[in-house]
Parts: sequence; structure tokens; C-alpha cells
Amino acid sequence: MSARRPVVESPLSPLDPFGTGRSLDPKGGLPQPARRVDNDFSRLFPGELLVGVETLNVDAASFKQMEEAAGPGLSDAERDAAVVRQVEQTVRDRGKQHNPVTGSGGMLLGRVLQLAPGRTGDAAGEGDRIASLVSLSLTPLRIDRVKAVRRASAQIDVEGEAVLFASGAYAKLPSDLPERLALAVLDVAGAAPQVARLVARTLAEGGPRPRSVVVLGAGGKSGVLCAAEARRTGGDRVKVIGVERYAPFAEDLRGLGVCDAVAVADACDPIAVRRAVLEANGGEEADLVFSCVNVPDAEMSAVLVTRDRGTAYFFAMSTSFTKAALGAEGVGKDIDLMIGNGFAHQHAEHSLAMMRSFPAIRALFEKRYG
Ligand code: NAP
Repeated sequence: MSARRPVVESPLSPLDPFGTGRSLDPKGGLPQPARRVDNDFSRLFPGELLVGVETLNVDAASFKQMEEAAGPGLSDAERDAAVVRQVEQTVRDRGKQHNPVTGSGGMLLGRVLQLAPGRTGDAAGEGDRIASLVSLSLTPLRIDRVKAVRRASAQIDVEGEAVLFASGAYAKLPSDLPERLALAVLDVAGAAPQVARLVARTLAEGGPRPRSVVVLGAGGKSGVLCAAEARRTGGDRVKVIGVERYAPFAEDLRGLGVCDAVAVADACDPIAVRRAVLEANGGEEADLVFSCVNVPDAEMSAVLVTRDRGTAYFFAMSTSFTKAALGAEGVGKDIDLMIGNGFAHQHAEHSLAMMRSFPAIRALFEKRYG
């Protein structure tokens, strides 16, 4: 058991639910946009929760970017080592795993070591195992040792510590699901609840005409959950079309039976994606489009397949606001462009419950990430 830390007054204010007292650059700023945060956990501030970190679930776009930055021609072990070096460097420089290129983080799994006074409504007590539901891009973190890299799930086992602020959501790990599976699902927990809302909204609008939903990157983690949720919420009133670049993941998706059509296409090639979607959708553009890829430059595929006054929803952290907004304007598309909020009420419960109600998805995710 680690030593208990003294709790001292925050340098800024006794009430600091957002952790501004930990922001070093700029001093007193919010920790997410901060260039550097204080990761000295020899003392805690009121309202903080100290975690003994065991696994980092790195954001998919960030992990991919670090793999690509490692350069071509490396063995798997060399690429893993290069990713670890980048993570360690980022945490040394910034006091948090806030990828300087993608701007994204991920989340962590660990054990609660200490709850400082000033917190209310905690579901977990000291000793409980939790997963953070706020981004690593704002979570003060110290890494003491890296133990293993699991590329398939973008997870890195470490020894270290982190602090969650009073405003920082977390989930107590469920006892009926493997921890790695729960961590993988919780990483993208915001996606499916938002799909349920948007599909319900589009069904409520505009009469009985058929609706269509496109998911880009549909064979990945969030993509599978989005496609499954669109099917569950919309039933046979929606046509669900998955677009996936990686043929084995497209095959996995077909096997789940949640999509009406699965196209193997590159989301960075908007003309090819438009052709594939129109072909699968009787020549029509889609009401709702979810971008769940882990690479940049997929904005225009989403834009080009969204119908007039439809919605393109960018869950992908690799999305550029500028490319989406200026691109839509450039092709004269009056569509709603939505940023994928990682948070929704009850999102953790919603997404974990999907593992219980979709056994085939649970089996697939256990095979990939468990
Ligand atoms: P994932 O499991 O890696 O899935 C991404 C999928 O997209 C993979 O199947 C990937 O195939 C596919 N893909 C990549 N490039 C493609 C292309 N050009 N055309 C078609 N498909 C392509 O990732 P994830 O964990 O679901 O995360 C998806 C995105 O959500 C990431 O950008 C991540 O940053 C973001 N995210 C957002 C939030 C939020 O709060 N909004 C939270 C967590 C994650 P390959 O196997 O070939 O790469």
C-alpha cells in the first residue's frame, strides 16, 4: 500500500473542481488546454482522487499517429518501443499524456489510492478498481515503469500514478466483464448513447420515409458500437451502412449482422466512399453519418455522403474542424456538423450494458481487446 499523501490547500482556491491549481503553463488555466500540468503527487489538493495506474488506454488516433511517427520499416517490437518513448517523453514534458500532434489522450485503469477531502458522491472507495472517464489529455500522470504494450487495443501497462479532479468522471469496474474489455469499451463510451439520441431524433422528424445511417471506420471499436446502436434504436426503419478500410474488420462487421451493407473503402477517398454509399443506399445520401476512423483527412467522405439538412457527427479525434467546415461550404452542403462529445449522461452504463445485450460483439471485443 502506498504512503498517504498530505492534502494541502490548492495554490489558487480552496474550491477547485476543475484542477486549475495543477496547471503550470499557463498558470491557473484549465488543465486540458494547458501545455503543462503539475504531476507532483507528494501532496494532494482538496477534491483530488489519487490513482495507482496500471494501464493506459491510449486514444486510437493518438496511438496511430505515434506509430506512424516512428517511421517505416520497423519490427513490431521496435515500433512498440518507439511509441513508449513518445509517451514517456510527452508525460515528462507535459505532466500528462496529451499527444502534442493529435491533441488527444485516452483514459486509464487503476486502483484508488486516496480520496482527498472535498469530494462528494464517490461511487468508489480506496482500494477499488476504476477506469477514468475523462481524457488523459487533462489528467496529471507520472509513469514510473512501462511493463507491456498491447498494440491491438492501444493499451500500455505501466506502473505510475495519476490524479482525477473533483469534476473528473470515472467508472468503477464491473465485476462481470473482463477488465481490459471494460476499459476498451469505456474509452469510447460517449459514442453509442449519442447515436441512440440522433437516430431517435431523425426517426421522429419528417414522416415515415426510410432513414439511413453511415458509419465510417465501422469495423473499429467505436464504429461497431455505433452501427449496433443505430440498428437497435432504428430497427428495420433504418438502413445501416458500414464503411471500413481493413478487410478483416469489414468481415467481422458483416458477421455481426448489424449492417445492411458493409463497403470496403478508404474514408480518405471521398469520391470512392460516396460511390460506395450511393450504391448501397439506392442512390440516396444518408440522414446521419458517424465518423469513427482513427486517421486524419476523412472529413470530406462524411460531408459528401450526408443528405441536405442531414447530420455528420465527428467522433474521430483525428477530425479537423477547419477541413470539415470549409469543406462542407466548398461543396455547397447545408448539413449539421457535430463534434463528438466524449461525455453523455450514463454513457459508461449504456456502453457496458451493450456488452451484455450483444453477446456477439462482446465475443469479438474479447477476442480483440480482452
Ligand atoms: P479503432 O478501434 O482503431 O477504429 C478505427 C477504425 O477505422 C479501424 O477499424 C480502422 O481500420 C478504420 N479506418 C482507419 N482508417 C480508415 C480509412 N481511411 N477508411 C476507412 N476506415 C478506416 O478506433 P476507436 O477506438 O473506435 O476510435 C475511433 C476514433 O474515435 C478515433 O479517432 C479516436 O480518437 C476517437 N475517439 C473519440 C472520443 C470522443 O470523445 N469523441 C473518445 C474516444 C475515441 P485500421 O484497422 O485499418 O486502422
